[in-house]
Amino acid sequence: GYGLVAGSGVRLPPLPTLRDIVKLYKLQAIKQLSQNFLMDERLTDKIVRAVGRIDVNDVVLEVGPGPGGITRSILRKQPRRLILVEKDRRFLPSLELLKECVEPLGQTTVDIHQGDILRFPIGEVIPDGSGRIHLIGNLPFAISTRLLINWLEDLSLRRKAFRRPDTTMTLTFQQEVAERICAPIDHSQRCRLSVMSQIWTQPVFKFTIPGKAFVPKPEVDVGVVKLIPLKHPKTDLPFKLVEKVCRHTFSMRQKYCRRGYGTLFPEKDRADIIQELFELADVDPLARPFQLSVEEYIRLAKVYHDFIEKNPEVALYDYRAPKVKVNSNCAV
Ligand code: SAM
Repeated sequence: GYGLVAGSGVRLPPLPTLRDIVKLYKLQAIKQLSQNFLMDERLTDKIVRAVGRIDVNDVVLEVGPGPGGITRSILRKQPRRLILVEKDRRFLPSLELLKECVEPLGQTTVDIHQGDILRFPIGEVIPDGSGRIHLIGNLPFAISTRLLINWLEDLSLRRKAFRRPDTTMTLTFQQEVAERICAPIDHSQRCRLSVMSQIWTQPVFKFTIPGKAFVPKPEVDVGVVKLIPLKHPKTDLPFKLVEKVCRHTFSMRQKYCRRGYGTLFPEKDRADIIQELFELADVDPLARPFQLSVEEYIRLAKVYHDFIEKNPEVALYDYRAPKVKVNSNCAV
């Protein structure tokens, strides 16, 4: 049998090395898809350790497994079920190989799905009562940010992967984005993504992976962030509304926060409205956007919410389209 290796879980059956896999299946990274592979087992193990405890009844979903480095580290932890979602078909045979090696051991079932994670029906693939879910991914940067926003929205609605309150997310981002997600009040990197992440989760910056650890090497370093959903999210307001308020307020980072926030309202009555709403929200209109707390953003969102309930036409207002009134995509 395959004995336990101290600290790193079960030993996998003999497998070709990742480098051999890449050669064998001719898996040259495709630059347009921002493919950068992690070949160093110590680093892939470290990413999986960042997830925290993975129990034998847990379900892990890995996005973008590629040639399967992180996948191998997850398998050593022996979750009950591992779901792989990979867009690039070229990786399917090497993932099948992993599945065939691991399933006979009897603990982990591996499901391989070819497709785009942004369209993947997690809620159907992981039915209710499936156990705790861990979401893991080393994805192209643009997609991990998009995906995080989607998942935060799912979390706010307690749907899909977030029907249970204890789902975890462990994702890689461009170092700077990882810092933004975790940036506290007054931090130079504080932005919309910080506030949105911190309303629904506790983001924890885990560690940096130097760019040179990847093959091929990306231009930037990579930050690993674990996001733990809050037991009690800080608001029940609709995700898209909060997002809109944060987006507008941060749109003029270096100005007083009332400037960006003001762009939510028609110019004609703007000055009066924002004076009233900042008073109602008990927020200093002369603070800079990065100097406001999460609670202050929520209060600004709440007074905006109440205002557009009374003045529904204002929800459709788009300050970038001054002449014609359009139903813009930032309408809530
Ligand atoms: N996880 C591997 C590793 O760490 O070595 C590969 C990382 S590579 C940066 C990103 C992987 O995500 C690639 O395998 C790529 O094909 C896949 N990918 C990119 N966009 C995707 C999407 N929308 N849905 C699922 N997988 C995607």
